[in-house]
Amino acid sequence: MADIRLEITKNPKQKPVDEGSLGFGKIFTDHMFRVSWSKERGWYDPEIIPFGDLTLHPAATVLHYGAEIFEGMKAYRKADGSIQLFRPEENFKRLNRSAARMGLPEYPVEEGMKALKALLKLDEDWVPHNEGTSLYIRPFMIGVDEFLGVHGVGHAVLYIILSPSGSYYPEGINPVKIMIEDEDVRAVRGGTGEAKCGGNYGASTRAGIRAEERGYSQVLWLDGVERRYIEEVGAMNIMFKIAGKVVTPALTGSILPGITRKSILEMLRAQGIDAEERRISVDELIQAAEDGTLEEAWGCGTAAVVSPVGWLMYQGKEYVIGGAAIGETTQKIYDELTAIQWGKKPDPFGWIVPLD
Ligand SMILES: *Cc1c(COP(=O)(O)O)cnc(C)c1O
Repeated sequence: MADIRLEITKNPKQKPVDEGSLGFGKIFTDHMFRVSWSKERGWYDPEIIPFGDLTLHPAATVLHYGAEIFEGMKAYRKADGSIQLFRPEENFKRLNRSAARMGLPEYPVEEGMKALKALLKLDEDWVPHNEGTSLYIRPFMIGVDEFLGVHGVGHAVLYIILSPSGSYYPEGINPVKIMIEDEDVRAVRGGTGEAKCGGNYGASTRAGIRAEERGYSQVLWLDGVERRYIEEVGAMNIMFKIAGKVVTPALTGSILPGITRKSILEMLRAQGIDAEERRISVDELIQAAEDGTLEEAWGCGTAAVVSPVGWLMYQGKEYVIGGAAIGETTQKIYDELTAIQWGKKPDPFGWIVPLD
């Protein structure tokens, strides 16, 4: 592939001074990566350009038929000032699995890594310094055919944008309230549940709003067929500690295969801790909540790393988990994973990719 063309911005923005009020995904760096694809030419014109609005034809496929996939990962600044990534190849590999499911083109993982590193080097001063902060990285791909017919995508564009983000837990880790949804479903086997695509979020919005109205921060989804087996939380996978054992729903085709989920399982198993992947019915979960064997529950994903669940609502009844305090295992996983991600501890797994 051609070298990346570089167009430096003439209007660099003021970098945020107060890293305490960064929040998540609200401000963006000076540049973005863009590469185009067509059926005839393959990938062409990789370039880093000033961050700015997109111009789209009103008939563009993405706007009508949901031809969109995305990824989410972070760059972390170590105490010595250097920058590192956590398993970024996994994100580019998953982007390609999502692409295959959605009829979008695959982008070579090495090219994705090359583009990401070049963009990060250019905007590296945007990686924040404060404890718990990071630079959130959002690659995404859209179909851009200028044609309303329903058809396979013939033109696509892949972008990477960067957003300095604040600590997910500025006030310490507080357990969240989760509502088990038994009406809407997020995904079914054979559908797009295991692809990271915007459409899954579109389908999830109504239940999310309903949960929020009742004072719950997120939805816990059940399987789309029997509405009986636990799948995952809004934008996180879910794990439980039941009677001393860590369990998480098996990847049955409708669950997003999280890289945080995979990393936690690998970390636990490396320590000789048994972690089960299997189907977990909501009846089993509620039974465990009632008899006190549901010791801990936590969501896991790139944004939060882990998010302890303190309350579960199901069919009008609320269950308190672990006294609504962060559990021992949840805390341990959080401490060990974040120590590797921010470079406070050596990485025995080969997960870290330094930006050099
Ligand atoms: C991205 C995502 C996750 C978490 O994946 P990570 O790779 O751990 O960040 C879980 N569920 C859904 C629906 C997601 O979109």
